[in-house]
Amino acid sequence: MGAPGVGKGTQARMLAQSHQVPQISTGDILRAAVRDGTPLGRRAREYMDAGRLVPDEVVVGIVEERLKEGDCRRGYILDGFPRTIPQAQALKGVARLDRVVLIDLPVEELVRRSVGRRTCSTCGQIYHVEFDPPGEEGVCDKCGGSLILRRDDKEETVRARLKVYSEETEPLVDYYQKEGLLKRLDGVGSIDEIFGRLHGLLEGLS
Ligand code: AMP
Repeated sequence: MGAPGVGKGTQARMLAQSHQVPQISTGDILRAAVRDGTPLGRRAREYMDAGRLVPDEVVVGIVEERLKEGDCRRGYILDGFPRTIPQAQALKGVARLDRVVLIDLPVEELVRRSVGRRTCSTCGQIYHVEFDPPGEEGVCDKCGGSLILRRDDKEETVRARLKVYSEETEPLVDYYQKEGLLKRLDGVGSIDEIFGRLHGLLEGLS
């Protein structure tokens, strides 16, 4: 977990690859639904564009269904879920968590990271115009897809998302601290440095 723009998605993706388990990103699942124009996507879109959270029962349903799939049997990395106390309580009924990692970063740095972020519209790979640019501007190195600025990465939406984070998601820090699961990770540094630290925090997990 961590505020929008902290680098959760990037680190979760790398961790999922290195552990050979799926990355379950509710944000990615919702964006795919919006892109495909499904009933879920039509319902989620207005919340996402405003930087608000999609209602708990919707995201909890998505995650419950996803965790039933066979590729989750060996484990998984949850990315961007849970984001509220009711989501965490629902998750407790269906999953056993090994660790909760909180990535920390100052607010102005969060804004800078989100506003410069570019996402591949085809495969979801994440880039940053300053910190992690693609070989060719606007083109995904991995699949050749076009890179876009997520609608919710516009500055005013980013600030709205930060407010929602502090009001609705930050209470989870205490919640998981009390459960004895929380590990704090300093989000300042290069992607590889942070990944190295993340590995250190997860020692003992196969
Ligand atoms: P993300 O890619 O994780 O930053 O998510 C993008 C947007 O999707 C968020 O700003 C929310 O509108 C929605 N979303 C993603 N995950 C959740 C969640 N666990 N609960 C509610 N809304 C979510």
